[in-house]
Parts: sequence; C-alpha cells; structure tokens
Amino acid sequence: MCITRDERVTVVDGGVEQAKAGSGERLERYERLYIGGAWVAPQDGGMMESIDPATGRAWAIVAYGGARDIDSAVAAARAAFEGPWGRMAPHERAALLRRFADLYQRAAPELAKVESRDNGRALRESRADAGGHHTAYHWFASLADKQGGRTIPLDSAVHAYTERLPIGVVGAITPWNVPLMAACWKLGPALAAGCTVVLKPAEQTPCSSLELAALFEEAGFPPGVVNIVPGYGANGAGDHLVTHPGVDKITFTGEGATAKEILKRGADTLKKFTFELGGKAPHILFADADLDQAINAATGSAWALCGQSCALGSRVLVERSVYDQVAEAFTARAAKVRVGRPLDEATHMGPQASRAQMDKTLSYIAKGNDEGARLIAGGAPAEVAGLEGGYFVQPTVFADVSNDMAIARDEIFGPVAALIPFDGEDEAVALANDTAYGLTAGLWTRDLGRAHRTAARIRAGVVWVNTYRYLRWSIPYGGFKSSGWGRENGMEALEPYLETRATVISTTGVFPDAYAS
Ligand code: NAP
Repeated sequence: MCITRDERVTVVDGGVEQAKAGSGERLERYERLYIGGAWVAPQDGGMMESIDPATGRAWAIVAYGGARDIDSAVAAARAAFEGPWGRMAPHERAALLRRFADLYQRAAPELAKVESRDNGRALRESRADAGGHHTAYHWFASLADKQGGRTIPLDSAVHAYTERLPIGVVGAITPWNVPLMAACWKLGPALAAGCTVVLKPAEQTPCSSLELAALFEEAGFPPGVVNIVPGYGANGAGDHLVTHPGVDKITFTGEGATAKEILKRGADTLKKFTFELGGKAPHILFADADLDQAINAATGSAWALCGQSCALGSRVLVERSVYDQVAEAFTARAAKVRVGRPLDEATHMGPQASRAQMDKTLSYIAKGNDEGARLIAGGAPAEVAGLEGGYFVQPTVFADVSNDMAIARDEIFGPVAALIPFDGEDEAVALANDTAYGLTAGLWTRDLGRAHRTAARIRAGVVWVNTYRYLRWSIPYGGFKSSGWGRENGMEALEPYLETRATVISTTGVFPDAYAS
C-alpha cells in the first residue's frame, strides 16, 4: 500500500524549524527514510536541513540515516536480492522499470522543481534534464533481458558456457549537482542487471531522491529492491555503506579526492567500484569553425548548472587568429546571462549550490587575478534583488590564461571560463591533453580530416565534434585518467553490475586418476 505525497511530505509554518528558517517561511518535511518498502523514521540518524541556495535558508527538513539505518537497508536489499527480485525473470524486471519510467515522466515537472529548490539549478535546466530521464529508464529496461552469455567452442567431451549474473547489493552514492540524473544513471542499469540498491544522495540535495522512492513504491517494486537513505558522507551513512561487508559494489559519482578515500575505506571488503569523477574539459575552437555556433556552445557550456557540471567546457582553447573575436563574444554573452531565482522561468543561471561552493569559486577568481590572467567578465558575487542571502556568482571569463595556472588546472565547479590561445593542431592537442582529467572534450572545425585527426588524439571518455554536452543514455559516459573508472550509459551500462560465471560440463563424466602410474 503506497502512501501519498501529502502523507510523506508535510508542510509546516511554525515551531523550531520556522525559527531556523528565519522569516516565517513554510518548510517542507521529509521525515522518513525509504527502507524495505516502508517509510521509516531514522533509528540512529536524525533530521537535517536542506538549504535553498537562493536564500541561504532552510526550505526543507529531511530525515537522514545512520549506521543502523544503513544496516537495515542493506539487509532489506539482500533479502530482496535473494528473494523475489532474484527470482524474477529479466523481462519482468524490465516491465517494472518501464512502469516506473512512465510514472517518472508524469512526475518530472515536480521532480525538477524539487531539484531546483535543493541545489539552485535554474528550473529551465532541471526541467529539460528531468524531462528526459524516463527515456533513459526505458533504455535501461530494454537491456534487462539481453545480457546473455556465450557457448565456448571446445571438443565434444566438454560443453562450456557463460552467464551474466547480477553482482548483488549495490551502494549508490550521488553528488549534489545532478542528483536526479546521477540516480537515473545508477538505478536504471543496476536494476536492469538484477541488482538491488541502497541509494545515498548528497546531504545538500536529498529531497528529489526521496521523491523517487514514492515512484518505485507506486510502480510495484518488491520491498527492499530500492532503498533510499539520505545521510552524511565521510562520517555517516556514506562511509558505512562503503565499509559494509554486505554491499557487493559501490557506484560513486563525486570528487576524485572522495573516490580515493572511498577506495581505501572499501579495501577491506574487496568490493567492486565504479567512479564517475570530475573534469576540466578542453573545448577547442579552430579558426575554420562555424564560430557563431562554436561560441553558442562554448558560452552555454561554460556556465551551465552555474558552472557545476563535470562536463563543463571550462578550458576554452582558441586558435590565435580568432582569439580576440571569441574573447569579445564571451564578454558580450556574459552580460546577457540572467542570474536569478531558480524557479523563475526567465532565469538562465541560479546560485551556486552552497556557500562552500560559492566561496571556492570566488577563491579561484582571486587566484586567476593573482596569477595574471585578464578578467574580461564577471569576477564577483552577483546581486539579485530580494535574495541577498543567496550564493550567486557572476558568469566570469578570464582571457590570456596559460595552461599551468590554477584556473586552468583545477576543477573549480563554478561559472568561470578560461580562454587559452593556441597555434595549430599539435599545440591544441598538447594543451587539451595536458591535464590530470579525461572526462569530456569538444572541438569545432569545418575540416572533416582535422575533426577526425584531432578527436583521435584526445585522451577523454567523450569527444564532441561541432556540438557540446550532448548527453544520451545510449552513449557511454565516463572518464580516462583521474576522471574515473568504468562507464555509465550505452550498451556498456550494465557491465559494472554484472559478474560472469563460466560453467564447464564434461559430456563423458570421465576423469583420469592422476596417480595411476
Ligand atoms: P563529493 O563531495 O565527492 O560527494 C559526493 C557524494 O559522496 C556525496 O553523497 C557525499 O556525501 C558522499 N561522500 C563524501 N565523502 C564520503 C566518504 N568518505 N564515504 C562515502 N561517501 C562520501 O562530490 P560533490 O561535491 O557532491 O560533487 C561534485 C563532484 O562530482 C565534482 O567533482 C563533479 O565533477 C563530480 N561529478 C561527476 C560526474 C560524472 O558523471 N563524471 C557527474 C556529476 C558530478 P555528503 O553529501 O555528505 O558529503
């Protein structure tokens, strides 16, 4: 029996929380975790606030789980894996996922709003993103019954074959910049593969993930297949999931430094890991490109998600003969970006997701100035009338950046573009690859040969030619070098959630005595 949103999420405008909120604003309350198919109060967690980054004040009170809650969630996931979910035929799992996808499509506009409240992303962006996720879930569903093994040619005395089997209980840990997309890219393939999941969203953005739980419930998933437990990372639910002996695999999206810590903490249990980590993508503009289109893509991707995207084209490499023209276009475009309240239809760019993220961005802007880059747009907090407590930053552009400056090397995760000049293909490729990261890259040229030559030399998991940030569930996504391990999406999507079993059968049953002579 599923409970309605009004039963799960209550709205209060009084008491302690209102005082915390500061000005009599109404607060949403998500007071339950979703474990074993039930909405339960935390055992050893508690209640935390989700801050609206547009105001700097709480907009929701949310239950978070502790170690005992993770224990319960893992036990429920194990029981489902060994019980009804494990026994279900792949096409039946696919049918449930498809039902969920249809419910998701219906709920997408509301989910997008919740995401924008949680992380400040402009509604037009969250809506476009969430509006496509149901298609992704359908795609993953379509892979559920196509994970066959193979027969291995041997002689007639032996018959050998392989099977592809779900890995077991998956711990999914997601970041705050794209909670719904990250959940989709993990839950979809994990469930299609036949795994069960405990999802821990980032502490800053737990609400949209809890909304998903209601859709899984309504779709009729057996209890325990999906468990959603918001919580803290290093000292809470996240770490307990990583170290838990009952978890077979961790799929993680977040920062490289966190991934290294997770790897160390998870080592004792020798579980499997997939890591989707950061990027510092080169976006190469050759002089022969259709520059109007290239500038649309380069400016669009520089400030998407307020700069908080792993695929951001934040290192804009521009051929010297068109460098000044591109720099002027960046300055002009920055002036057109409407920074404002995330839920306003007119807003292009909302605030940074947290005060810490805003402070980090501003500290990198200071470094850019100190290192001698030329600031040609932005460079300061943005003022938005009526939202003085919000974490807004101006779209910012530095020209005359060299690739060894901190603003060119580090993932800032803010709306800061660095324009770097180059001469010729070889230098473009050398600069593009001179980074610890290797997630995405873009290049613009009208020369077909150059497009192929350059794309083939770039060390990144995705290379876009004459387009940028074209993300689809059917295209594999993931990083080279420090940008991660493994791939999400594409035909490869289920791979991280499967084990191979080889079965070898003698057709004669004859086994020689090793000690006969
Ligand atoms: P993060 O700080 O690494 O946190 C990600 C998640 O890990 C959060 O849920 C966090 O919980 C949890 N966590 C932190 N420490 C942990 C620990 N020791 N054990 C277990 N869990 C732990 O990353 P973020 O700042 O949220 O996200 C931004 C990063 O994600 C950027 O680097 C971005 O490039 C990357 N990203 C990559 C992709 C991709 O597909 N490659 C997509 C999106 C984002 P708390 O919330 O409690 O800290």
